[in-house]
Amino acid sequence: MRKDEEFSEWYNEVIERSELSDKRYAIKGMNVWRPYGWAIMKLIDQAIRDEFDSTGHGEVNFPVLIPESEFKKEAEHVKGFEGDVFWVTRGGFNELDVKLVLRPTSETAMYPMFKLWIRSHADLPLKVYQIVPVFRYETKMTRSFMRVREIHFFEAHTAHATFEDAEQQIHEDLQMNERVMRALALPYIVSRRPNWDKFPGAHYSLGSDTLLPSGRAAQVATFHQYRDNFAKVYDVTYETETGEHKFVHQTTDGMSERLLGALISIHGDEKGLVLPPAAAPVQAVVVPILEKGRQEEMLLEAQRLFLELRERMRVKLDDRDIRPGEKYYYWEARGVPLRVELGPRDLANRAVTVVRRDTGEKKELPRELLPDRLRTVLELMQVAMWNRAEKVLQDNTFTITKLEDARDGFNRMGWCGKESCGKAITERTGMSVLGTPFYPEPFDGKCIVCGEKTKQLVYAAKAY
Ligand code: ZN
Repeated sequence: MRKDEEFSEWYNEVIERSELSDKRYAIKGMNVWRPYGWAIMKLIDQAIRDEFDSTGHGEVNFPVLIPESEFKKEAEHVKGFEGDVFWVTRGGFNELDVKLVLRPTSETAMYPMFKLWIRSHADLPLKVYQIVPVFRYETKMTRSFMRVREIHFFEAHTAHATFEDAEQQIHEDLQMNERVMRALALPYIVSRRPNWDKFPGAHYSLGSDTLLPSGRAAQVATFHQYRDNFAKVYDVTYETETGEHKFVHQTTDGMSERLLGALISIHGDEKGLVLPPAAAPVQAVVVPILEKGRQEEMLLEAQRLFLELRERMRVKLDDRDIRPGEKYYYWEARGVPLRVELGPRDLANRAVTVVRRDTGEKKELPRELLPDRLRTVLELMQVAMWNRAEKVLQDNTFTITKLEDARDGFNRMGWCGKESCGKAITERTGMSVLGTPFYPEPFDGKCIVCGEKTKQLVYAAKAY
């Protein structure tokens, strides 16, 4: 199946063939994670967990249900989510007095508790995160990992004494995001979302967007500055050193299984998945090529090789009694970064044949110091995959001066900052306004809609 011709079908086929998840479960958009898909997701979870843990966040686990009374407190937030949530209205045979909502995100679950946990300035900053499923009543066409109704979700929530402290948190979030995106080899841009598209209830929102091969932007992470908007509604206050009571300032950092969807889309090829070593449950597979009469000797040698490599990487020995060709196909579809073949000739040469999944490059390497050599190859691959994807992103970022020139990819253009001009961009091109670049990009030109002189740029793209 050609990726560039039939992207959607290609995407579904890759997931099916590599056994990541099964969408045949009887509820649309609630897919079943299969062992291999879950193994990749757990590596992504761990990368993110390491970031949160090392920056002083504590992991929590809140109930999945939120009472309607709490859910409906913040007006904008409710307006943004009410149409998207599942309700629990009955317990056994009884209608519930207070309806319950399956969390679409956890602000309204957490902040009543924050109110109880935060007493004084000494309790701040409060930084927590959880990795849990959230639920959205998605009515559009669903797609594995990209648009689902049960979402594997990462959400960090913080509370600070001041707005400036909360701003610092957003900077820390962006640094974490950079490290996670590097590990997944997913280049991205960070934009400050326009006001009409910020998170419901936020003071402002930043989005981290990557570019899919279809030319569409996929939001893979968001960072929200809430200021004291939610604190006022949930009455989350702290006592200052001088005995004053003040509202906390809050932020959130959210990511989802979409990271995996983007990873599949950007790096996969005609043979299936291509995983960056950091996200590969199996980084190298040892395939002995058995010669009649020497099976035992070769298997023994393959076993020895496997044990050597196991010290330095996640490795698998494929000693199944099937043809080598079948094994190649199987592991290629699963995106395993390195295939280490051990044939009779390799054995004689004290060598192995190593095939890189990302480039297909085939090389004979000596057995001496093989674990070190392969570690180096894995590190090179990790960087090469990022670099290739980043080049694609750059090659598909266009600066345009007329809306008629908009095309698939990231379009950057002058914008005067007026909402009417921003909305005109969407109306006339069908693109979403991703926002102004968070990391300043010098510009001197005109608003693409009204022609007013401006130094401000805006990014727009068709959004997934
Ligand atoms: Zn304008």
